[in-house]
Amino acid sequence: MNNAYFQIRFPQNEPVKAYMPGSPERAALKAELEAQRIAPVEVPLIIGGREIFLEQTADIVCPHDHRTVLGRYSVAGEKELQLAVEAAEAARATWEAMPWEQRATIFLKAADLLTGKYRAKMSAACMLGQSKNIYQSEIDSVCELADFLRFNAYYLQEIYKQQPISPDGFWNRVEYRALDGFVAAISPFNFAAIGGNLVSAPAMAGNTVIWKPSSTAVLSNYYVMKLFMEAGLPAGVINFVPCRGVDFGRVVINDPHMAGFHFTGSTEVFNGIWKQVGANIDKYVSYPRLVGETGGKDFIFAHPSADVESLVCAMLLGSFEYQGQKCSAASRAYIPQSLWEAVRARLESEVAQVRIGDVRDCTNLMNAVIDRKSFENIRSYIEFAEASSDAEVIIGGGCDDSVGYFVEPTVILARTPSFRTMVEEIFGPVLTVYVYPDEELDATLHACDTATRYALTGAIFAQDRQAVVDMERALSHAAGNFYINDKPTGAVVGQQPFGGSRGSGTNDKAGSAVNLYRWLSQRAIKETLVPRTVVNYPYMTAE
Ligand code: NAD
Repeated sequence: MNNAYFQIRFPQNEPVKAYMPGSPERAALKAELEAQRIAPVEVPLIIGGREIFLEQTADIVCPHDHRTVLGRYSVAGEKELQLAVEAAEAARATWEAMPWEQRATIFLKAADLLTGKYRAKMSAACMLGQSKNIYQSEIDSVCELADFLRFNAYYLQEIYKQQPISPDGFWNRVEYRALDGFVAAISPFNFAAIGGNLVSAPAMAGNTVIWKPSSTAVLSNYYVMKLFMEAGLPAGVINFVPCRGVDFGRVVINDPHMAGFHFTGSTEVFNGIWKQVGANIDKYVSYPRLVGETGGKDFIFAHPSADVESLVCAMLLGSFEYQGQKCSAASRAYIPQSLWEAVRARLESEVAQVRIGDVRDCTNLMNAVIDRKSFENIRSYIEFAEASSDAEVIIGGGCDDSVGYFVEPTVILARTPSFRTMVEEIFGPVLTVYVYPDEELDATLHACDTATRYALTGAIFAQDRQAVVDMERALSHAAGNFYINDKPTGAVVGQQPFGGSRGSGTNDKAGSAVNLYRWLSQRAIKETLVPRTVVNYPYMTAE
């Protein structure tokens, strides 16, 4: 019976816990870290609510201590992916028909479980499996994920309220159906919250989902899946299938019932799937909605009036927190000649104090990069800069993979704004600085706007208000998330809806109503209260 208008209250952002020495949250997390480190887990596929363990497995390792194996996960093949498609299709009608407030309740409950009994478990899995420090893990796997769940439930309610006008004699209604097929979701390694959001946003809107997590984020993503199940998610609504990307493409993306694709990851992979969908277009039941948040080459641009202390703080935290592996991480900076000496001196002294190492040592700001492939890729960029006459490595540059995949916070000074590390995404703790002559501000703003294919995040630093106005305008399409006198990372759900355009994605802002609209398909219903019975129009009367 649905006989009342239910109301979800406007959510609050989940408060970030401090984890001070002696606090209960720190003690609980330490115990959980130890427990997870010494007791490897077997991670199954979860298809149609059933756990499936396969012989084909892969190891889950600590990036900062690659000899420590945290567990093994089953790797789905084509047979299991086909089962996932069938499970998602089988669950679809019942799930879509479930009253929206009941669907939303499952995810609101998941948020409360996450911030309660799952908090330490989720955070420890993210710290160990993705090499995040306590704070980075708390803001990702706990607070941001809880925010996604609570804010999306609220936004969905606000969307459902929107109705068309009805003139006298008619009642016009709009129904917000789910898509006519399942949603395929592929998530990246770097945020547990993104995986949770990629699957829960379409599911909340009534869709069923097939989820391929990243092979280097399986542990935290598995606990996200367990969390949803404990909160009451019915079988088959989200199907968890770690697998190879090509197999997912062959079975899931190629299926005629794929109605939506929710992706976060690199531009290359999204482009590949887009092409595949294009080639398949004649065989889909409906036009698949393609939503992708992709790569970035995020900038910090300083005006000569910038405050040096806050600029340097933003350069350091914006570029090196989570080892520069945030899609929003600053990786190029434009600094005026008049400030460079002061900026360089302060940056050198601040970076010298940064500690790198194991996630369990709370004095470390930085930990390891995600895996060997990434480590080698970052190292190759540093070596390229070292060998080039157009650049100089002025801070860091050291790489050591003997215990974990550690890369020092590295600053490259480039002699041209088009130097390779100024324009290509590296996805590691490497910041390239271009020092511009003060009188070439406009030309350098133009270079910042046009140098790369990306437009994800960017920050400007200036005290001069007219400069803020001019720079904001000059860079209006250079970033989907734009910061003034702040670092370009750390977007918060409900405060800065996240996403970029150009080569950085479709800009369907994660954690906002805009994103939810993509998983809904309206049906407009017109009902005539007393239908007409006369064919002729009044004007047809003879004079
Ligand atoms: P990635 O593109 O390598 O992988 C993302 C996902 O795609 C993984 O699950 C991976 O296994 C899968 N994949 C890889 N090849 C595939 C294929 N051929 N077919 C199907 N799936 C395939 O990205 P990553 O290394 O996990 O994450 C880093 C990238 O993600 C960076 O480019 C970063 O900028 C981007 N990112 C963007 C945002 C954003 O909001 N714009 C957020 C986080 C990460």
